[in-house]
Amino acid sequence: MTIFSKKKKTICHICGRNDGTKKYGVGAAGQQRYYCMHCNKTFQTTYIYKGKEFNIAAQVEALWEKHHTPEQISTELQVPLVKVKSLVMLLEEKDV
Ligand SMILES: [Zn+2]
Repeated sequence: MTIFSKKKKTICHICGRNDGTKKYGVGAAGQQRYYCMHCNKTFQTTYIYKGKEFNIAAQVEALWEKHHTPEQISTELQVPLVKVKSLVMLLEEKDV
């Protein structure tokens, strides 16, 4: 039994959630665009959002995919453990 999914989750660049994003066509330069139902906004995976929340979410995701524990991620990124755990929880959620 494994809790790790190979499936790549797309995290919203604005709110950091991954349970409301879906593909939304492609951008002018051919990038995949996504839509987030929580923010009602679209974003592109190649677009680097300057928001702190996104940076944390992306970094947590990257470490999580390398099978780091939430405790390790918390220490490494200096993010509160509770925040890491809430992000990890989103990564673990299955598509409905
Ligand atoms: Zn969002």
